[in-house]
Amino acid sequence: MAHHKDEKTLVIIKPDGVQRSLIGEITARYERVGLKLVGLKIMVPTVEQIEEHYTLDPEWRRVTGEKTIKGYKDKGLTPPSEDPIEITGIILENLKKYLSSGPVVLMVWQGAHAVGVVRKITGGTEPLTSDVGTIRGDLVLDSYQMSDTDGRAVRNLLHASGSVEEAENEINHWFTPEELVNYRLVQEQILYDVNLDGILE
Ligand code: ADP
Ligand code: MG
Repeated sequence: MAHHKDEKTLVIIKPDGVQRSLIGEITARYERVGLKLVGLKIMVPTVEQIEEHYTLDPEWRRVTGEKTIKGYKDKGLTPPSEDPIEITGIILENLKKYLSSGPVVLMVWQGAHAVGVVRKITGGTEPLTSDVGTIRGDLVLDSYQMSDTDGRAVRNLLHASGSVEEAENEINHWFTPEELVNYRLVQEQILYDVNLDGILE
């Protein structure tokens, strides 16, 4: 089994994050926790690339639809449909518009529990309810109510892979193996070394 410190995850700074000049602020938050940036590029994604990205996981349509229905019910509201797949169809169309509207920044982060750590720092999907201290909780203010009223995707600055398997598929989708850089960060010694015997002279 690969060591935990080899875990990788994909982050996409969505067009709103780029337009709000938050590339540096967002990158700093993942960087300062101790993760290592091993892939980076800027591009305007095509709608085909976006649809493929979200449907790499055959369960995504169902899970996202169910999460959305639950979100409505938790607030005492009636969802627009009881069918998760139908709801996700609308979300996917809106996501294609959102993510192809301008440049995005794609990043691969590596380190212990990279997937979970990045999700924690990123915060929950809906900025209104994401925790204070997370990127989505601190830097943006959208809600499902507002995005539904306006018939668009909720603007939450970021995509972050939801599991190790999702991360592997997404990284393969956006990056070639040659685009990922294998290197050592000096700080990895203090994060991961068992003996800490290389510090004192
Ligand atoms: P996450 O990005 O937190 O992993 P999902 O994978 O569930 O969230 O959804 C992908 C993206 O689709 C979200 O980041 C968001 O932009 C959009 N989205 C998800 N659910 C909704 C919804 N109910 N209404 C509007 N947009 C949504
Ligand atoms: Mg997701």
